[in-house]
Amino acid sequence: MKKILVVEDEEDILNLVRIILEINNYKVIVAHDGYQGLEMVKENPDLILLDIMMPGMTGWEFLDKISADGYDIPVIVLTANAQMSTLETAINKKVDDCVVKPFDREDLMEKVNSILNKN
Ligand SMILES: [Mg+2]
Repeated sequence: MKKILVVEDEEDILNLVRIILEINNYKVIVAHDGYQGLEMVKENPDLILLDIMMPGMTGWEFLDKISADGYDIPVIVLTANAQMSTLETAINKKVDDCVVKPFDREDLMEKVNSILNKN
């Protein structure tokens, strides 16, 4: 079973994403902020779903840290902010895909499945 790490500070969104992924037969591990995320990434998830706007450490800072640590794990960014600047940063940081909140369940699963079935 493929393992997905969800890093998201909003409890409701975290639980919703977790349930959707579990229904679709993925194992889910969660982190409520970037610091917890850095611990959980040691479990070598197959994919990371990453919120950007989080207190303490943003999703972008989290990405920089794991890439400095040598991790090469596909990332889908969860963002409420679909502005060009967010999308440009996503491209610059080579994230694999973006899901804009409030997200559509089918859109999310299509993107997750497409990345995980490639591997
Ligand atoms: Mg957030």
